[in-house]
Amino acid sequence: MTKKLFLILLVLSNCRLAQATEGMWLPLLLQQLNEAEMQSMGMKMTAEDIYSVNRGSLKDAIVHFGGFCTAEVISTQGLLLTNHHCGDEFIQSHSTLEKNYYENGFWAASKSEELPNPGLFATFIIRIEDVTKQVLENVTEEMHPKERQAWVTRNTERVKSEAQREDYQDVMVRPFFEGNQYFLFVTETYRDVRLVGAPPASIGKFGADTDNWVWPRHTGDFSVFRIYAGPGNRPAEYSPENQPYQPRHALPVSLDGVDADDFTLVFGFPGRTEEYLPSPAIEQRVNILNPIRIGIRDRTLEVMNEAMRKDPMVRLQYVSKQSRIANSWKKWIGESQGIRRTNAIAQRQAYEKEFQKRVEANPEWKEKYGSILPRFRQLYAEQEPYAKAREYLGEIAGRNVELFRYANTLHRLVKSYDASGAPGLEPRMGQAQDYIEGFFKDYQPDVDRQVFASLMEVYFNELNPAYQSKFAIEQFVNADKDYQTLASLIYGKSQIIRPDVMRQAIAAGPEGLVTVIREDYAYQFVRNISEVNEGDALKEYQRIQEDIDLLQQEYMKAQMEVFAEKRFYPDANSTLRFTYGQVDGYSPRDAVRYEPQTYLDGVMEKYIPGDYEFDVPEKLQQLYAKKDYGPYGENGRMPVCFIGTNHTTGGNSGSPAIDAHGNLIGLNFDRAWEGTMSDINYDPSICRNIMVDIRYVLFIIDKLGGAGHLIEEMELVHPKG
Ligand code: ASP
Repeated sequence: MTKKLFLILLVLSNCRLAQATEGMWLPLLLQQLNEAEMQSMGMKMTAEDIYSVNRGSLKDAIVHFGGFCTAEVISTQGLLLTNHHCGDEFIQSHSTLEKNYYENGFWAASKSEELPNPGLFATFIIRIEDVTKQVLENVTEEMHPKERQAWVTRNTERVKSEAQREDYQDVMVRPFFEGNQYFLFVTETYRDVRLVGAPPASIGKFGADTDNWVWPRHTGDFSVFRIYAGPGNRPAEYSPENQPYQPRHALPVSLDGVDADDFTLVFGFPGRTEEYLPSPAIEQRVNILNPIRIGIRDRTLEVMNEAMRKDPMVRLQYVSKQSRIANSWKKWIGESQGIRRTNAIAQRQAYEKEFQKRVEANPEWKEKYGSILPRFRQLYAEQEPYAKAREYLGEIAGRNVELFRYANTLHRLVKSYDASGAPGLEPRMGQAQDYIEGFFKDYQPDVDRQVFASLMEVYFNELNPAYQSKFAIEQFVNADKDYQTLASLIYGKSQIIRPDVMRQAIAAGPEGLVTVIREDYAYQFVRNISEVNEGDALKEYQRIQEDIDLLQQEYMKAQMEVFAEKRFYPDANSTLRFTYGQVDGYSPRDAVRYEPQTYLDGVMEKYIPGDYEFDVPEKLQQLYAKKDYGPYGENGRMPVCFIGTNHTTGGNSGSPAIDAHGNLIGLNFDRAWEGTMSDINYDPSICRNIMVDIRYVLFIIDKLGGAGHLIEEMELVHPKG
């Protein structure tokens, strides 16, 4: 080979490699779109090994965990592995200050000690079909959007009802590429999923908010569950008679670890990405919306963090709630920084310029697609004031102030009563009682009152007065425009935050309950605030959003046509996807290079005795001192986490990292700071997903948790010989 040809090939292959890592692909199209490339990157499997409807394949070991995370089956007895941060609310729900499984860890010594989790479910994907043709039957390009939607709805219902399935299976149809394609999923959902084990929080959440979204990382972010099945291994509600689920496939677990450049496959249920947004949308996100959300959550977290550090009971009650708020808060900060640092907006504008150039050069496209981009700019500008109000009100009234959120949920009972009276509400009373009791279990009015006082400052100072409630302003004036006084009034007078009152109200039946809610001062305050959102601001927002959605559908179609040479993947929508890449470090900034693997040495470097975020359990320190790593160590060291170039997002939390042969090598749980903007703009040079090394998981289960019986259930393999 000549040197020149070699160089050309090298450049081409590098381009392809850089490109290859972007994308969350549909398993059904794997053979057609990805198999060859994956094999060229080192994969030894075939498409059929990953997704098959005829025999057990990797997909049969993957579940949607509770509808918000991913988990994988790792034994023939239905043992399930997911992240600690996916299982934390269940671990927390079984914990008390006396038996604090969250802080100290939990290991069921036998199956009889495994703990049921009402409401938790695990969904398998049995089959995927492309139903685009059927769903878009009779739909034409000229059709009015409403008419189109009516056909799509009608056709979807028909497709679902005609789909072949067993009576214990479910079927759903989801739009892809903004409604330009449709896929059908036949699923099986198991509703008896029990907690088997979890490491102490000082391992499962090591580094907490400081280390979240950051590499180098040292978190043992895993927890263990088990699926139970009814007669015939079929899905069933919880019953003590249920038996461990027997999977069609369980992932073998590799003890050989990873090396740089090793092929990695991440398989799971990514939640939501928006990779094809026009530049004005990204500008709005970074310049307007993210700062609002971040500012509000800064305040909430300041209050919560302080209270949680002071009082172990508050920590236990708020740990899961705080994580949800802090996780997105930090992600948005990283996302905005990443967009700026990588000049993502300018890049997107350059892409749009090229789009427009090609469109203008083709008379048919010009006619159809020529005004898409200018129209986007116009619509986003028009929507901006409503989008801002929606963000403020959504964050304050719908999310951060717990009393607001609670009162808005209770409002649904009032609405139901107004619509159908006591008989309509009667069947929902049990559910209402569970919700109210659940609320009180983890509620500290004093903490919430401080959040309220802090966020009311934002409400009255930052939110456009046009969207402030007159009633709320009156109350504020009555409180001498003092936030603390207002807080004392609201929380002092409110009856719905008093457990004794609410228990009596529930006992009094639908009418009694609704009366207490309706007459409550805090409820009235919240409803007045929320009505503005549900009325003016949100209606306008929605009206414009409908136009934006239609335009985005059109734009997606246009991009696929205009850039026909490009390989498109659909945005994440909580359906089963795979992404592939390689173990690889990266350079976060000039002169700095990150290695792809961390070790227990790094845990000890970060260790701060007694610290809220960086404490290390004594037993782990002892194991480290003795280098007692069993078969899980590597040359006298204990690997902890590694990174790769897989394109992941929220929902991929808990997804398996799989090697070239189909064995489990890690557990996906996060992304590296510099690349958190990958939901909008994936940049292969700095976007990395973070995985716990499976050897660390096994080491913690076995050596720290003393749960060697779980390891015995697994198939441990040595693919590297
Ligand atoms: N840690 C992330 C999350 O839970 C996972 C990700 O987005 O990559 O949202």
